[in-house]
Amino acid sequence: MKIIMLGAPGAGKGTQAKMIAAKYAIPHISTGDIFRANIKNGTELGMEAKKYMDQGLLVPDELTVRILLDRVAQADCAGGYVLDGFPRTIPQAQVLDEALGKLGDSIDYAIDVNVPDENIVKRMSGRRACLTCGATYHVEHIPPKKEGICDNCGSPLVLRDDDKPETVLNRLKVYHDQTQPLIDFYSAKGVLRTVDGTQGMDDVFASIVAILEK
Ligand code: ADP
Ligand code: AMP
Repeated sequence: MKIIMLGAPGAGKGTQAKMIAAKYAIPHISTGDIFRANIKNGTELGMEAKKYMDQGLLVPDELTVRILLDRVAQADCAGGYVLDGFPRTIPQAQVLDEALGKLGDSIDYAIDVNVPDENIVKRMSGRRACLTCGATYHVEHIPPKKEGICDNCGSPLVLRDDDKPETVLNRLKVYHDQTQPLIDFYSAKGVLRTVDGTQGMDDVFASIVAILEK
């Protein structure tokens, strides 16, 4: 099963992608997590990506596509995967489509987690991230057991640099300009499914499972 998560930054793509990955035993692939891991490790790729991420801009397609195609070519992806944060532009979607097409394959579902802009800024300012294992929490809605500490690995939780309100507004603009057109792209392919992302995370997940198991 090959699944793409669509939705604005902060809509809950990552939260749901992790739950899907756990339930169906497929890898969760987040290009944002890959970039953050590279930034943390001080790689050249990380330094390049950071220039864009800190401003709420997209990392150039060329770089992002290369990383994603390398990742999905790995053996653990043979049985499918859930992509979170990729594609974010039409050219990225086209490259993915072509790469899958060459293998006689295609995306099964593009799930749009729909959350209005008003809710997004609140979600993002409350998001706390673990830069060690990639877990995410929300100070009000999904708090860790111990404040400021990751339940999974015990590392300190941080407010991501790009979750500060001024950057969030930029990211939302970029989303509407560059990523939202993917909704029509996948709708035309007959694989788009929309869920109401304003529900609690377990209800959002139940809606997704109902789609995948229909
Ligand atoms: P995305 O991957 O789309 O950027 P996240 O999954 O990181 O979004 O979610 C953004 C923030 O909202 C996080 O702090 C997360 O814990 C919280 N969150 C996710 N899903 C819900 C939900 N259904 N209700 C309330 N808060 C949520
Ligand atoms: P995310 O963790 O998905 O919210 O991504 C954080 C940031 O990483 C984005 O704001 C972009 O700067 C960058 N990024 C992640 N995925 C992509 C992508 N597919 N294309 C371009 N930039 C990306």
